[in-house]
Amino acid sequence: MDGKDYLLHRIQTIIIGSGAAGLNAAVSLYKEGQQDIAIVTEGKMMGTSRNTGSDKQTYYKMTTCSGEADSVRQMAQTLFDGEAMDGDLALVEAALSVRGFFHLVDIGVPFPCNGAGEYIGYKTDHDPFRRGTSAGPLTSRFMTEALWHEVERYSIPVFDGYQVIEILTEKTGDGKRARGVLAVDVRASGPGQVYAVFSAENIVYATGGEAGMYETSVYPVSQTGGLGTALRAGAKGKNLTESQFGIASTRFRWNLSGTYQQVIPRYVSTEQDGSGEREFLDGYFDCPEHMLYAIFLKGYQWPFDPRKTRDHGSSLIDILVYQEMTLKGRRVFLDYRKNPSCSEKDGRFQTALLHPEAYGYLESSGGLQDTPIKRLEHMNPAAIELYRSHGINLHEEKLEIAVCAQHNNGGLSGNWWWESNLKHFFPVGEVNGSHGVYRPGGSALNSGQVGSMRAAAYIAHCYQEKPLSGEGIRELCGGQILAAIKFGARALAKQDAVLDLREERKALGMRMSRYGAHIRSYEGIRTALMENRIQRQRIETSGINSPSDLKHYYRLRDLLVSQKAYLEAMEDYIAHGGKSRGSYLIYDEHGDKPSEKLPECFRSLLEQHGMSGLIQELEYYQDTSRISWRDVRPIPEDDCWFEAVWKRYREGEYFKGNKAGAGYLQKQP
Ligand SMILES: Cc1cc2nc3c(=O)[nH]c(=O)nc-3n(C[C@H](O)[C@H](O)[C@H](O)COP(=O)(O)OP(=O)(O)OC[C@H]3O[C@@H](n4cnc5c(N)ncnc54)[C@H](O)[C@@H]3O)c2cc1C
Repeated sequence: MDGKDYLLHRIQTIIIGSGAAGLNAAVSLYKEGQQDIAIVTEGKMMGTSRNTGSDKQTYYKMTTCSGEADSVRQMAQTLFDGEAMDGDLALVEAALSVRGFFHLVDIGVPFPCNGAGEYIGYKTDHDPFRRGTSAGPLTSRFMTEALWHEVERYSIPVFDGYQVIEILTEKTGDGKRARGVLAVDVRASGPGQVYAVFSAENIVYATGGEAGMYETSVYPVSQTGGLGTALRAGAKGKNLTESQFGIASTRFRWNLSGTYQQVIPRYVSTEQDGSGEREFLDGYFDCPEHMLYAIFLKGYQWPFDPRKTRDHGSSLIDILVYQEMTLKGRRVFLDYRKNPSCSEKDGRFQTALLHPEAYGYLESSGGLQDTPIKRLEHMNPAAIELYRSHGINLHEEKLEIAVCAQHNNGGLSGNWWWESNLKHFFPVGEVNGSHGVYRPGGSALNSGQVGSMRAAAYIAHCYQEKPLSGEGIRELCGGQILAAIKFGARALAKQDAVLDLREERKALGMRMSRYGAHIRSYEGIRTALMENRIQRQRIETSGINSPSDLKHYYRLRDLLVSQKAYLEAMEDYIAHGGKSRGSYLIYDEHGDKPSEKLPECFRSLLEQHGMSGLIQELEYYQDTSRISWRDVRPIPEDDCWFEAVWKRYREGEYFKGNKAGAGYLQKQP
C-alpha cells in the first residue's frame, strides 16, 4: 500500500452528481465555452431529481403571465423574507429564475402555457404571487431527462458509478482551495481498480440533500448525499438547523399532500404486528369539525410547521403521528376505504361537519362521495393509479405513513457565485444551503438551475488554469489520498470485529429521525451526539467483509460526519436561545403544549423572529466544530442604470467583486 493504487484523470472542471443541478452545470459550462469538463456520479439514474415527485411538483420563478405586477426585486424580497436568507442570493435567484425556466422550456420540459404563449402559474406556499408552475407530478424527472439529452448532444463525458469519498485540497495563504477528488469505482471487480483520482482545477459539487441521515424519509432510496465529505475538506456549513419534514408514505416514498388529504382519509395506528388497530387523532381535537378541517388543510399545508400546531392546526397531526410511531412504537396508516369514525352517522359521511372551505372545495370538485377512496377516485384517479403501479391498492389496503425528511434548506455555504470558502469548489443544488427558514414551494428546483448557471459563468470567466499533473497532485495531495485509502485498507484487514453495515446505517438514521428531525430537545440532541461519537469510534476500529463493502463504509463515515455537524448546529441554536420555527419544534419548559393531553416533550415556544436576520455557520472539526453567527447579507442596492452596468459588464467588473472577497457586489462609485 503506497497510495499510488489509483487511476488518474485530469479534467479542468468536474461536476459531481447528475441531478437537475449537476446536469445543468455541465450544460452551462459547455455553453460558456469551458469544454474540458466531465460529470462524475455515483449513478446516472440516482438522486432526488430523477426519482421523486409530488402531487404537483413545482418550479418557482418570477411571474410570466399578464395581470401580475411582479419584479425581480419583489421576488428577491419574498425569498429574503423567508428569514436567515442572504439577500444577494435572493436577488440572484430571482433575477435568473426566468432564464433558468425558459432554458428548461427550450430543451423540452413541458411546462404549460396558454394560447398567447403565457407561462401561467399558481400560488405555492409562502408565495404572494402566482409564481409556481409545474409540468405535473414528475417535473424534476422531466428536467433531468431533457438535460441528459443536452449532455449527450454536447458529448460531455460521464464517469458513471464513481462515489466521491475525498475532496483533495491545498492550503493557500488565506485558507484552502480544492484540487480534485478521490472516488471509489462502485463497480470495480479487482484490487487496484477501486480508486480513481480526478485532478481538477474546479469542482461543481451537486450531490443533493443529505438524505441518508434519516430513517424516515421521502427522499428516494437512491439518494444519500455528499455533504459530510465536503465538511471534512473544510467547506463551511450554513443554516444546518433548517430542513423540511412532512407526512409521506413509506413503502413507496411519496408526499401525501393535495388531494391525498383533501379527501379526508381516516388516520389509524396498529401494533407492529398489525393488531390493535385504532384511530388516534380524535382525542386531541375538541370537536370533529376541527379534526376534519385539520386533515383537509394538510393538503396544502404540507410541511410540518410549529406555528400550525396550536388551535387545532394542521401540524398537530404530524405531532400525533410522531407520538404514535416514535413514542409508542406503533405503525401509522391512512385508510382511504373508511371515513374518520367521528364523521360518519348511519354509515354516511356527515358533510354538515365540514368547514365551509373544505365543503366548498369538495363540492366544487364534485367530491362529496361517501368514502375517501370514492372522493379520490373522482377528483384525482391518477393518485390511486400511482400507488397501484407501485404495488399498493388503496381500494384494498391501508397506506403506511410517517413524518419524513424531505428537504435541506441549509447546506454548504457559498457566495453569490455559489463558490464556497473552499476556493474553486462550487456547491450547487440542494447541497448548497442558499435557503433560509421558510422558502416558497418550488424554489429548490429554481435554486439548482440558477446556482449551476452562476457557478459555470464564474468558472468560465475566472478559473481557466489547467489541472495539476499526476505528479503535481501526488506532491500536494498524496498524504490525503494515502490516508483515505488506508482508512479502507485497515477496515478490510480487520476480520475479527466485522460491522453489519446495514444495521449501522439503520441505527444512524433512527437516531436522526428521533432526535434531529421535526421534534427536538436539547437533551435529546446531546444524547444523539453522544451516540454518534460512540458509533464513529466503533466504525473506525471495526472491519468490513469485502472490497464491495468499501463504498458503504466510506459513506457511513461521512454520514456520521454530517450527522455530528447537524446535531452540533442544533445544540448551538438552542444554546443561543433559538425556539421552534421552520419545520421543527423544540422542547421548552416555559412553553405550552398544543393539547394538554400531550406529553411534556411537545411543550414549546415559538421563535419570535429574533434570529431571522442571523445566519449560523459551521466549520467542521473532528472533536468540536466551530460555530459562528453573522448577519444576513442584505439585498444589494439597485444597480440598474444601463450605461453604467454596460461599462462594468464589458470590463468584467462583476467577476472582480467576488475576487475581492466580497460576498456581494458593493455599489460602484
Ligand atoms: C418528495 C419530494 C418532493 C419534492 N418536491 C419539490 C417541488 O415540488 N419543488 C421543488 O422545488 N423541490 C422539490 N423537492 C426538492 C427537489 O426535488 C430537490 O431539491 C432537487 O431535485 C435536488 O436536485 P440536486 O440536483 O441538487 O440533487 P439530486 O437530484 O439529489 O442529485 C444528486 C446527485 O448526486 C449524486 N451523488 C450524491 N453523492 C455523491 C457522491 N459522493 N459521489 C458521486 N455522486 C454523488 C447522486 O447520485 C445524484 O446523481 C422535492 C423533494 C422531494 C424528496
